[in-house]
Amino acid sequence: MHKVIIIGSGCAGLTAAIYTARADLQPLVLDGYEPGGQLALTTMVENFPGFPEGVLGPDLIENTRKQAQRFGAEFRSGAVTAVDLSRRPFRLTAGKETYETQTLIIAAGASARMLGLESERKLLGYGVSTCATCDGAFFRNREIVVVGGGDTAMEDATFLTKFAKRVTLLHRRNEFRASKIMLDRARANDKIVFKTPYVVEEVHSVEKSSVESVKVRNVQTNAIETIPTDGLFVAIGHDPNTKVFQGLIDMDADGYIRTHDGPKTNIPGVFAAGDAQDRHYRQAVTAAGSGCMAAIEAERFLSAH
Ligand code: NAP
Repeated sequence: MHKVIIIGSGCAGLTAAIYTARADLQPLVLDGYEPGGQLALTTMVENFPGFPEGVLGPDLIENTRKQAQRFGAEFRSGAVTAVDLSRRPFRLTAGKETYETQTLIIAAGASARMLGLESERKLLGYGVSTCATCDGAFFRNREIVVVGGGDTAMEDATFLTKFAKRVTLLHRRNEFRASKIMLDRARANDKIVFKTPYVVEEVHSVEKSSVESVKVRNVQTNAIETIPTDGLFVAIGHDPNTKVFQGLIDMDADGYIRTHDGPKTNIPGVFAAGDAQDRHYRQAVTAAGSGCMAAIEAERFLSAH
């Protein structure tokens, strides 16, 4: 029987682990599919307070993990496949293991959406990327296609012009979901070419293990074109990693866990932190802050019960 189990080992989960470990609650952290979360996939982080020269995302995560271990947090690999939140203690299944816990902190994060093409999947890491900040520097003086019509796509396209010769921003509609300021900034950038309404049909060349072009289709005319490019950045949003909780806990239509009074969910004793419950800020520092809040609330809950 655990006092607290934390699902997820990104910034939110690790901060919750530090706080609950220091409160002597011996937290168990279940790593999930992407140990370290999205910071583990980035390079330089320049907006995390306390690092005037910036810090590498993987280093920040590794140090935070060590900090939690120093106070007694235990880590197990494996993703949670089933949960029973209908009564306390809560029950979790991860792989062949079943765990019981008095409180639960869900910090399972969010994962980048993909277009769902076979060629996209095969070329991920070979010219296809979901992380402009991680991979932009590989495309110095190259051609890049960015897919998406939201703020992430605008931000990524604008950021990528620091490196790229030209960025083609491909979107499936003529209207954009992005905020006006981000859209205007991208439109004012003469390295960015807008191309709408197009969808990507295929990425070439899987045979050569590198991106050479994308086959695109105009969704109004069905005309097919090939755009030569060195990289494809998929910037079509993120999905919270909360499927296993569907129907068991209050969440919005997109699967983000609803919280109130800080990290509290509709189930007493279950708290949520980080991107699994935050569709708005999604920053390392806000994830860390909400992890801290979840830990403090878990501690208070245990004292009160
Ligand atoms: P988003 O707002 O959900 O936009 C996703 C975009 O991708 C939409 O334009 C959507 O097209 C397109 N898309 C989705 N699935 C697709 C598919 N299968 N094929 C082609 N296109 C697809 O996601 P986001 O841009 O990541 O933004 C998420 C949240 O973070 C927003 O609230 C945003 O404001 C915020 N954010 C803020 C900042 C900032 O202020 N600095 C930066 C980044 C993100 P449709 O429009 O046709 O649905």
